[in-house]
Amino acid sequence: MVKYVFITGGVLSGLGKGITTASVGLLLRSMGYSVTSIKIDPYVNVDAGTMNPYMHGEVFVTEDGGETDLDLGHYERFLDINLSKDNNITTGKIYLEVITKERRGDYLGQTVQIIPHVTDEIKSKIREIARRSSADVVLVEVGGTVGDIEGLPFLEAARQMRLEEGSRGVIFVHVVLVPKLSTTGEFKTKPAQHSFQELRRIGIQPDLIVARSERPIDGGIRSKLALFGNVGVEEVVNSYDVDPVYEVPLILKNQGVDRLLTSKLGLEYREPDLGPWVELVERYRSISKTVRIAMVGKYTALKDSYLSIIEALKHSGIHLGVKPQLVWVEATDVEAGRVDPKEVIEGVDGAVILPGFGSRGVEGKVRVIEVIRELGKPTLGICFGLQLMVVEFARNVLGLERANTTEVDPNTPHPVVDLLEMQRGVVVKGGTMRLGALPARVIKGTLAYRIYQTEVVYERHRHRYHINPHYVDALESAGFRVGAVSFEGFPEMMELQGHRFYFGTQAHPEYKSRPLKPSPVFVEFLKASARL
Ligand code: GLN
Repeated sequence: MVKYVFITGGVLSGLGKGITTASVGLLLRSMGYSVTSIKIDPYVNVDAGTMNPYMHGEVFVTEDGGETDLDLGHYERFLDINLSKDNNITTGKIYLEVITKERRGDYLGQTVQIIPHVTDEIKSKIREIARRSSADVVLVEVGGTVGDIEGLPFLEAARQMRLEEGSRGVIFVHVVLVPKLSTTGEFKTKPAQHSFQELRRIGIQPDLIVARSERPIDGGIRSKLALFGNVGVEEVVNSYDVDPVYEVPLILKNQGVDRLLTSKLGLEYREPDLGPWVELVERYRSISKTVRIAMVGKYTALKDSYLSIIEALKHSGIHLGVKPQLVWVEATDVEAGRVDPKEVIEGVDGAVILPGFGSRGVEGKVRVIEVIRELGKPTLGICFGLQLMVVEFARNVLGLERANTTEVDPNTPHPVVDLLEMQRGVVVKGGTMRLGALPARVIKGTLAYRIYQTEVVYERHRHRYHINPHYVDALESAGFRVGAVSFEGFPEMMELQGHRFYFGTQAHPEYKSRPLKPSPVFVEFLKASARL
């Protein structure tokens, strides 16, 4: 019978619940149990695709083209599995379903209510994913903080599931922040106490408490949390800040979380095989060589906007034995003349031109790209990054004045980047981009082929625009060559001849990068940057 682990959070959001969930999953998986993971986001958007990254961090794209919460990225990286768009449940999705059913007449004669109709829909979605994945254990992370109005129906559904599945079928892990006062250096448990009370009011008793803190907490604090949380002292574990986050599963294992999980879920205990993770963390710790990478984008104030790219660079770094040191270059600052791109770029070993949407910051990015190309620094352009590399090249090398993407300038005389054919006539915004894993044919003898070493690659996409095939001849004859082509026939990867590494891809290779299996694109980029 399938088991469920619900992970809730107290005190504040952004605690690292996603990492805790992924780490719990990894412990179970390394004991030989199959695991899947669901993220519940109580906001009313149907998915994360329509949100600004400043609201919510990066939009993580799944193989099947879901635009999901970034926690799915944590799950995929730790568990080394591919999840579906369905693994991200939102209030929007649930209500859309319930209202569609109501209109169809499925509830004919009834008053449709939060309990039982909405809660039933939530439970049935969770159980459906469990059934489809045929996992031994399903992790369900409830986003937000206990006590949020939006989260109540989901917690109510979780409470009911415990009743229905029994205490060995459903367990609760509650993650709380234990802040430290800078004035006295004292850990405070009061916010955690309030969140335990809030949980109890909803009818949920945690089986395990994960205390998140900056530094390790002491035994006294642990006992206090146990007392107020109504659990045994050994059922309070501490997850303090670590770098890399891939150490968290090891920290939890050291505190016996593996045994606690199996005994509470009624599963047989098997010694977890965490060897590769221990090695990964040791390797990371032993790295002394750094490589400075400029990150050129416009959502740089919130680093979570580019989370998978940061992680992909880290994975490659561990693999190669170098530590990427990120130098953030805010395109709007360049545009406004607050930052001199030459000064910044001269000080780095390589640059990533980040993905994005819309015209804000575009001219700043183009200016930075020009500097990077002229200085010959290794460059990796991702999606909008590649598109703007083409815009820059068209303007400054081909001499096509005012060349642009029609996303920014619909009236440009040289639409070197243009709307995809399939996008013409698309008016609905949610979930309508060219999304998910799609194939590209890699051309032999190119840098792209050296990177992938195979002819057909599937990377994940999220875009509406593409490089206009009409300009390919002109670009190629000036040395900016096509390295791979989509099955629809437009350039998917471009690379500059005679340059150490000047490479752009329409796809997002960062989504598939895993700590133990880094993306080859990032590995080659970092290799060139670090001159390995
Ligand atoms: N805005 C561009 C497009 O829609 C690039 C998108 C991206 O960088 N993900 O094609």
